[in-house]
Amino acid sequence: MIISMRPHATREEIDHVCERIRDFGYKIHSIEGEERVVIGAVGLGDVTACLESLEAIPAVEQAVRISAPYKFVSREFKKEHTVIRINGTEVGGGEFVVMAGPCSVESEKQIMETAEYVAAHGARVLRGGAFKPRTSPYDFQGLELEGLKLLRRAKERTGLDIVTEVMSDRDVDMVAEYADIVQVGARNMQNFALLKSLGGCGRTVLLKRGMSSTIKELLMSAEYITAHGNPNVILCERGIRTFETATRNTCDIAAIPVLNELTHLPVVLDPSHAAGRRGIVPALMRAAVAVGADGVIVEVHPCPEKAVSDGAQSLPLEAFGRVMSSLKPYIQLWKEARLAEIGAAV
Ligand code: PEP
Ligand code: MN
Repeated sequence: MIISMRPHATREEIDHVCERIRDFGYKIHSIEGEERVVIGAVGLGDVTACLESLEAIPAVEQAVRISAPYKFVSREFKKEHTVIRINGTEVGGGEFVVMAGPCSVESEKQIMETAEYVAAHGARVLRGGAFKPRTSPYDFQGLELEGLKLLRRAKERTGLDIVTEVMSDRDVDMVAEYADIVQVGARNMQNFALLKSLGGCGRTVLLKRGMSSTIKELLMSAEYITAHGNPNVILCERGIRTFETATRNTCDIAAIPVLNELTHLPVVLDPSHAAGRRGIVPALMRAAVAVGADGVIVEVHPCPEKAVSDGAQSLPLEAFGRVMSSLKPYIQLWKEARLAEIGAAV
């Protein structure tokens, strides 16, 4: 916060304001001008209450908030990029992490076949929804617990970590038992009861950007999870709703470098939901590497035409294999840039 005192405020008045600021838990940096004193207050406290209290003091001309309304997730709070270690995988570190798998877990054969293929072609995490948020109540809603059990079997078979969605705070314990990364879908980004309950879930959270949410709102939602005790949050850009109809959503690729400026948390791109059709998914995957994302989460299906959800945007297995090999030179450059960044930071 920056607090400007009225011109010619007395020493007593200035000391009184400083005392109030300290009462709220802030540290003081004051700049004494010829005519006017400006006080800088830094730290973690109840900003709104502090501003209100200061504005009620007659010697204060103006009190304004300068830092973002989110704290724990901000770059100001922590300079170095957060690295989240999940078993053998490091998200946010020196590895571009590929998460891949079907939109929905449908059957043992489907998930096993996909898991084995994506594991053999460089994916580190298997995705697959057991609880599906569907626009229509008549569409497939997911295999629920049975789906979670199938994901566990796929993990045992392949060693892949699991990312899967939780839709309700009631299901957090159940999903966290099976998942290495718990996904919050776009439609639930501002389900604050769910976000709060993920504070204590003991798992990394993949938080997807709501389709009509600003970057600031995404960060505020991440702040809910961290403020409730869980610092392991991965942010995910998955396209936003705009006037454009050529793609299912509009891939806000700039959100990735913007987030990298504003937060230390890892950021991944979901090119599948951003695109809505598989043809442009490989180009968006390359874009994710180029703008410095920490990874991607991409939909892959052994037979997209038979998928119960999101078949049009799912890559068939061989197409996933091809895009993974075509990404190799880009990922090599990404690694060099990342190592230089890590080197520069130490
Ligand atoms: C999904 O990952 O399958 C999904 C439903 O994504 P989103 O919440 O981004 O729409
Ligand atoms: Mn999907």
